[in-house]
Amino acid sequence: MSDTPFDDLAVAVSSEEPLSHHTWLGVGGTAAYYCEPVDSAALAQVVRRCHERRIPLRVIGGGSNILVPATGFPGIVIRLSAPEFCAIEVHRPTITAGAGAKLVHLVSAAVQAGLAGLETLVGVPGTVGGALVGNAGGHGGDIGERVREVRIMLPTGEIEERGGDRLAFRSRWSNLDDGIVIGCRLELDEEHAAQLTKRMQKEWIVERSEQPSGTRSVAMMFKDPHGTTAESLVVQAGARDLRVGEATVYPAHANYVVAHPGCSSDDVRGLVEAVRGRVREKLGVELTPQIEMW
Ligand SMILES: Cc1cc2nc3c(=O)[nH]c(=O)nc-3n(C[C@H](O)[C@H](O)[C@H](O)COP(=O)(O)OP(=O)(O)OC[C@H]3O[C@@H](n4cnc5c(N)ncnc54)[C@H](O)[C@@H]3O)c2cc1C
Repeated sequence: MSDTPFDDLAVAVSSEEPLSHHTWLGVGGTAAYYCEPVDSAALAQVVRRCHERRIPLRVIGGGSNILVPATGFPGIVIRLSAPEFCAIEVHRPTITAGAGAKLVHLVSAAVQAGLAGLETLVGVPGTVGGALVGNAGGHGGDIGERVREVRIMLPTGEIEERGGDRLAFRSRWSNLDDGIVIGCRLELDEEHAAQLTKRMQKEWIVERSEQPSGTRSVAMMFKDPHGTTAESLVVQAGARDLRVGEATVYPAHANYVVAHPGCSSDDVRGLVEAVRGRVREKLGVELTPQIEMW
């Protein structure tokens, strides 16, 4: 194995990890370094080292909202997969969740416990961390409305608990951009579990009807502008049939890009830009990308 700037730390760090294995689109290059720390002490060591040596650091959650370029990422990518980062605990009417937990597990745990307020997130892929950072949401609301406290690791390795007016969530946006989100505490409403389960099942059916099915190689292209949907604008602009290389618009749900076999990162980026350009040209609307280009 080649030397890495992390060799003297008691933390397993690998080199040249293909990020295509960790993203929904399955395209893009490698991370120079990659680590799944076993606990927060190990994470703090890596984070501090990056801070001291100015090594770029990114966290990857479920990889459902990331486009990795063909050149990859020149720093370290961290995934919070260890049990310490994935725990979910119910303390009625609040629930705490680690950032690495799957969002679907958090939603199910809340519903089973008879705690309402997260059902609307039922079809959103990814982790709790990804959902918090991007303030993921559905028709009925977003996760930010329920967050009371967030645990965040700063670049110095210190952990900070943030609540109240130190937390800001807006549509598909949060101010959690200065550290690694470790977990959160959410406040929910007591409701009968059976009733809640029925509501979640309904939400699930709606969500599934609005999302591509049968392929995982997809990503949401744009945020919905105020008062309308990105999907309707893509359709109105006649951009549904655009294709760049092996990237196409998902025909039945025009706000998603599909990466077909052989697709490259540049194909996806090119398609997103082509669709955005067509909507601008035909409708005079500037769409904001939802997918994050690394
Ligand atoms: C089929 C499909 C349907 C979707 N439907 C919806 C929807 O209904 N509503 C919606 O809002 N979104 C939707 N999305 C977009 C996406 O699922 C959400 O943005 C999701 O919350 C991303 O979570 P993730 O764990 O996959 O994050 P990733 O894609 O892994 O990461 C996204 C960003 O969050 C950062 N991040 C992740 N974890 C942490 C952490 N612990 N600390 C700091 N930064 C972190 C990453 O660095 C990156 O910047 C959909 C996507 C797909 C593919």
